[in-house]
Amino acid sequence: MSAGSATNAKSIPVINPATEKVIGRVPRMDARDADRAVKIARAAFEDWRWVPGVEKAAMLHEVARRIRAMQKELATLMTREGGKPFCENRDEVEWTAACFNYYAEIGRNSRGSSLPPVAHHQVNFTIKEPYGVVVAIVPWNYPLLLLSWKVAPALAAGNAVIIKPSEETPLATLALKDAFSGLPEGVVQIVTGYGEEIGEALVRHRGTDLIAATGSVETGRRIGRICADQVKKAHLELGGNDPFIVCSDAELDVAVRGACWAAFLNSGQVCTSGKRFYVFEKIADEFIRRAVKFTKSLRLGDGANPRTDVGPMINLRQLADVHSRVVDAVTDGARVLCGGRRSPKHKKGFFYEPTILVDVDHDMRLVKSETFGPIMPIMRVKDIDEAIDRANDQVYGLGANIFTNNMEWAMRAMDRITAGTFWINDPLTDNDAGPFGGMRQTGHSRELGEEGLDEFRETKHVHLDYRQEIKTYWYPYAKYNKVR
Ligand code: NAD
Repeated sequence: MSAGSATNAKSIPVINPATEKVIGRVPRMDARDADRAVKIARAAFEDWRWVPGVEKAAMLHEVARRIRAMQKELATLMTREGGKPFCENRDEVEWTAACFNYYAEIGRNSRGSSLPPVAHHQVNFTIKEPYGVVVAIVPWNYPLLLLSWKVAPALAAGNAVIIKPSEETPLATLALKDAFSGLPEGVVQIVTGYGEEIGEALVRHRGTDLIAATGSVETGRRIGRICADQVKKAHLELGGNDPFIVCSDAELDVAVRGACWAAFLNSGQVCTSGKRFYVFEKIADEFIRRAVKFTKSLRLGDGANPRTDVGPMINLRQLADVHSRVVDAVTDGARVLCGGRRSPKHKKGFFYEPTILVDVDHDMRLVKSETFGPIMPIMRVKDIDEAIDRANDQVYGLGANIFTNNMEWAMRAMDRITAGTFWINDPLTDNDAGPFGGMRQTGHSRELGEEGLDEFRETKHVHLDYRQEIKTYWYPYAKYNKVR
């Protein structure tokens, strides 16, 4: 493992979003650092690709063990740099370790498959090969978990990896260097800096083979364009605008709690946050009443405080963007039932009150495009068909939720809603074995599961004939035509 310093002397401050204090600085690396990292990765790849699966598995389990041993240290750092409540970060560290355990095993499970040959003296099989040097570009909202979804399968598949954390949350990622230090030198490197600088330099570099990036649609589009020019593989996990349907038969207390968690978890800054709520008319008044009451009981504060439910937003830019969407919605007729403002109780920090809006029009910017903040816009629908139509009226396709025990409604929605994950009565739960990813503009890649390993392997078909003989269909064709 290596995490070098920048060729230049520049650095980037890391800010605690709860206090606005600078808590560290990291090197602001550039294209020269990208070049150096790629050379190291290419050299490391040549050996790593041939390490037997069972040995890789032992090393990846060791990475997981070390991550677990650092759980408190990592979760504390993540709370300080990213703002999420400590318990959410503690869970994230455990899920990160579990992902390395999962791919340690899945990675040694198979390396291709055997195929029926076209003649009995032939053998056909596939082998799965690593791409080479993978660049893992990670956002700030789940800095370690989303890193593990790329790095663990990429390593298990035999690739060398260069990790580029978000400029907002590089500290916990850098702390992982101890967890990776049992791997051969150069197999994993961590570089820091801005996306447009070192990030894009790695994307453009002719020595990188696969760019695995999670981020906004805008960033994904830019990375995808650069990769297309070089016909390089881009593995993109982008924005979402997940619908959340509450049917008339839902257990209201459960649905309200599930909805609030889906909307406000990590201050609503989750790619799979519930972002548009479609509630059956029959129960809408009661759902709204209970949701407002519960939301008002949530504690907004520094994630380091164990009583905090909702932490700050990541930065002022993000907060201002969300607030401008709320203001526009109100101007166009929406009503704020709670929240709708930067918290007046906090003198420092980027705290935005968990917000519920009604009388929301489906065409408002607040619901039409991804609003990355603690916002629950509630819209009434008359039945399941209207809910499905509304849910599908978007350019993204990451996840979708429904609360109902009506089998027909649940299955109809599952079949018709365009989304990579469909949750029934349990929002946002991931499973290492369950592929995760999006459709439409969210991207078309998958992480987790066996699919998540295959994204980092290329298939080679091998055709073998154990009988050396001249084939009838080779030249000369005069003879071949006679046989036919
Ligand atoms: P972002 O797009 O601003 O940045 C993501 C990463 O890309 C960062 O590391 C950034 O430095 C890097 N980057 C930016 N421009 C780049 C460039 N030109 N070349 C290379 N790298 C570049 O996103 P963000 O604000 O960090 O994260 C929030 C977004 O991520 C939201 O849209 C959210 O929905 C999405 N997201 C998606 C998933 C998913 O699985 N689909 C998961 C989490 C977050």
